[in-house]
Amino acid sequence: MTGSTRRPPHKDTLIGHAARDPQRFDGMVNPPVFRGSTVLFEDCATYEGRDPDDYKVMRYGVHGTPTTFAFEDAVAKLEGGHAAVAVPSGLAAITLALSAYAKQGSHLLVTDSAYGPARNFCDRRLSAWGVDVEYYDPAIGAGIAALIRPNTCAVYCEAPGSMTFEMQDIPAIAAAAHARGVPVLADNTWGTPYFFRAFERGVDVSIHAGTKYIAGHSDTLMGVIVTTEAQWLTVRRTVADFGTCVSPDDCWLALRGLRTIGVRMRHQMQSALTVARWLAAHPRVSRVLFPALESDPGHAIWKRDFDGAASLFAVVLEPATDESVIALIDSLQLFGIGSSWGGYESLAIRGKHFRRTATPWTAEGPMIRLHIGLEHTDDLIADLEQGLARLVAP
Ligand SMILES: *Cc1c(COP(=O)(O)O)cnc(C)c1O
Repeated sequence: MTGSTRRPPHKDTLIGHAARDPQRFDGMVNPPVFRGSTVLFEDCATYEGRDPDDYKVMRYGVHGTPTTFAFEDAVAKLEGGHAAVAVPSGLAAITLALSAYAKQGSHLLVTDSAYGPARNFCDRRLSAWGVDVEYYDPAIGAGIAALIRPNTCAVYCEAPGSMTFEMQDIPAIAAAAHARGVPVLADNTWGTPYFFRAFERGVDVSIHAGTKYIAGHSDTLMGVIVTTEAQWLTVRRTVADFGTCVSPDDCWLALRGLRTIGVRMRHQMQSALTVARWLAAHPRVSRVLFPALESDPGHAIWKRDFDGAASLFAVVLEPATDESVIALIDSLQLFGIGSSWGGYESLAIRGKHFRRTATPWTAEGPMIRLHIGLEHTDDLIADLEQGLARLVAP
């Protein structure tokens, strides 16, 4: 087949082959870990002639190594963006991306369902820097147009939202924002570069906690920002201005995780659906907040915009005492109690640490958030069944 008749490869094929250059590394399939600060140049002319805006060539360790570039390149290709930059954590990806746009006197629109620490950054840092942060109803859709002001610097989205899993109509939000020349930033950690084609849906800057499904093994902290060509230098220069960089060892681990993201996510999605459907039918459960379920209010948007679902969702229980909800979680043998998700192991926490200011969030009973790992669903369901039996009505 000639190049011109070839169709673009499926994501599964792409991720196995992207950002590999065995000939450069003595035939090794994977790029090695390059540790280093100084990069040597042949002569003064080459050293002094470096393009300060070319962040994808070797010039100094802070700006990346071949290991960093391979990881960044693989994420950008998988998601369909122009380029990516790796940063030390998902939260750093959020704060650096926001810092690239939020200026003194500007107005920033942030979804009310945003990840809690992103709100802290907006409320504590950006407000102190003179940025007017306004939270909006996650379900606003095209209605965002009414909130855009002449000084609006960006619209920040997260779909589905942390803890409450409300979907957002990102294409409608992006159309309204772009009509006014405003860029759209989105935390795409749940969607991942594998299941949500952020750029086809109108996102300009896609933010990931690579710590979650990208690294995928609960052994690495990583953030990645992927952008369109138009936004690349705005974001990349900001990361450079703050002197932020990541270790090549962590990039190597994150790239290793990324190679298997497809099989992990498809499997974890199926397991999450099995567990979520079982929970939805349980008498102690009021509803399951998971856009991949037909019963979820965000299902139609999820189905239209996403290629799959992460294995993270929340459960609203029938009214129960706090003590009995704690007893449920404490009794689980296979679900760990802790932050983060996207690894191979299941997790459970109470869903109670989230703030709302634009739109109230009301649940008829206590909430728990579950991450479904790679364990067998029969075992996970049995574990949850004995836990749910501990619930006591108030
Ligand atoms: C975990 C998380 C982050 C932050 O990632 P870290 O690597 O833990 O800093 C950002 N956004 C969402 C939605 C997350 O769940």
